[in-house]
Parts: sequence; structure tokens; C-alpha cells
Amino acid sequence: MFDSLSDRLGGVFDKLRGRGALKEQDVLDAMREVRIALLEADVALPVVRRFIDTVTEKAVGQNVLRSVTPGQQVVKIVNDALIETLGGEETPGLDLEAVPPIVIMMVGLQGSGKTTSTAKIAKLLKEKQGKKVMMASLDVNRPAAQEQLKVLGEQVSVATLPIIAGQQPTEIATRAMQAARLQAVDVLLLDTAGRLHVDQQLMDEMKAVAAISTPRETLLVVDSLTGQDAVNVAQSFAGQVDLTGVVLTRMDGDARGGAALSMRAVTGKPIKFAGTGEKMDALEVFHPSRVANRILG
Ligand code: GDP
Repeated sequence: MFDSLSDRLGGVFDKLRGRGALKEQDVLDAMREVRIALLEADVALPVVRRFIDTVTEKAVGQNVLRSVTPGQQVVKIVNDALIETLGGEETPGLDLEAVPPIVIMMVGLQGSGKTTSTAKIAKLLKEKQGKKVMMASLDVNRPAAQEQLKVLGEQVSVATLPIIAGQQPTEIATRAMQAARLQAVDVLLLDTAGRLHVDQQLMDEMKAVAAISTPRETLLVVDSLTGQDAVNVAQSFAGQVDLTGVVLTRMDGDARGGAALSMRAVTGKPIKFAGTGEKMDALEVFHPSRVANRILG
């Protein structure tokens, strides 16, 4: 995760740290290299600009350069700016303060890792928070999507709504709400249909399901490997439904980190979870400060 970005930045900051005194030009040279590293990591241009401006302004001002350990101070400024870009010090957890059944609606494009993430979150809520959880697949487009969720449910020992062939997503959502109430479920996860592209039918379907289930959380699942495309997809969804957060999948294979670094700044939506593998426990709560530490090694 972030390996190539981390290597690039590590090289820049080792040089800075190793020097006793720093001149303004040294900082400007380092920032030029950081800028290139961020652009190569596929971070959105406005985010890179803001990042470099913030760090440069702080590093050349505030007596940093006249201090005893200027290199370390500059690295600290970069660390703080990274945390800010990734979403700030606070870890945005799931908001589950409501009368049950609390609904989490999972949305995203096909192949993003939506169904896998749904089951991972169900497992986490059940095992770490002791919640009674149910999952329902509303994906009637992709053959075997409902069956896939059922199999994952068995793997993580979470109940899934029984499949009734031929039902439409809104009918399944209504049935899921009834079943969740009847069975005193705390959290109901709705795995909505994905499409290959953002289209109006997908958006309309999501809105209809949201109207029936009034989700407390609407989580968009996007693939971090798609870089800035992931951020563009998030912007499209954010314009249509009230997204409460993002699940960034395949972080295990993402050496660059552009989606993670651009998401919050561009869309205003917090990354809540990171998918880090295919296994059911390969899901991390996204902590900006820990991620920043990982990037800076
Ligand atoms: P959906 O079409 O969005 O529901 O996608 P799936 O949940 O079916 O996932 C598609 C593929 O991506 C599956 O083979 C998953 O095992 C894999 N996958 C999902 N999340 C991750 C992740 O965080 N890391 C890795 N390496 N693979 C993932």
C-alpha cells in the first residue's frame, strides 16, 4: 500500500533530515520533488497545488528554517498536511445512533468490490460491535449476485434475506425492512445493484431504495486502483444521493494512493473503510493519521 509514493517521498525527506541547516531554496527544491511524486501517484491537480502551497507557506515561515532541527520540522508539516488531506485527525466511524433497524446502503459500480465489502462490514459489526446484522442483495441485474451475497453471509455467519426470484429491487428492499423489524435486527446492509457505468437507471433505482429504507449510512464502494476515476465516480454519486462515506477497495494493490489522497478534498466525503484483500477480515477502519504515517514510513 502506497509503496511507490512512500519510496519517493522517503528519498526527498531523507535528504532534508540529513542536513543541519536549511535554506528557503532547499525547501522549494524538496517541494518540487514532492509535487512530482504526488502527480505521479495520480493525485488530483488542485489537491496537489493546495498541498504544496500549504506546506511551503508553513515551512518557509514561522522560524522553521532557523530552528535546531529544520528538516524534521518540515517533515512534521508535511505529515500534518497529509492528515488534513486524508480527512483530518478524527476517524469518521459509522453513525449507528438511530432506532433499529439501522440501514446501511452500499452503492457503487460493478466490480468495485461492493458485495465483498458489504459482507466484510457485516462481519465487523457483528464481531467487533456485537450487532445483530442482516444483509440483502438488491442486485437483480447480475446473474448470481444474490447467491454470491448468500454464500458470503454463510462464510461470516450473518443472515441474508431469503432470495425470491423475479422480485424488483424496491420489492426486495421493502421485504428486507419487514424481515429486519420482525427479527429485531440492529443493522440491515442493502447491497444495491452495480452497473458498468454511472447511468440514470442506476441512480433512480438507488433513490427509490433510499426512499423506502431511509439509510443512516450510504457508503460508496470504489476501487482505489482506478485512481482519479474513482474520485470522478464518487463525484457523480455524490451529486445524486446523500453519500455519507466511501469504502476504498484494493488498497492492498495500490502503490500510488492517488484516490485515497484526492477523495476527501475533491468530493468532501470521508473515506470510512479501506479494503486490503479478498479475505473477509481484510477491511480496515480508515484512520488518516495512521495512513499518513504509513506514507511517510
Ligand atoms: P462487486 O461487483 O462490486 O460486488 O464486486 P465483488 O465484491 O464481487 O468483488 C470483485 C472482486 O474483487 C472479487 O474477486 C473480490 O474478492 C475482489 N476484492 C474486493 N475487495 C477487494 C480488496 O480490498 N482487495 C483485493 N485484493 N480484492 C478485492
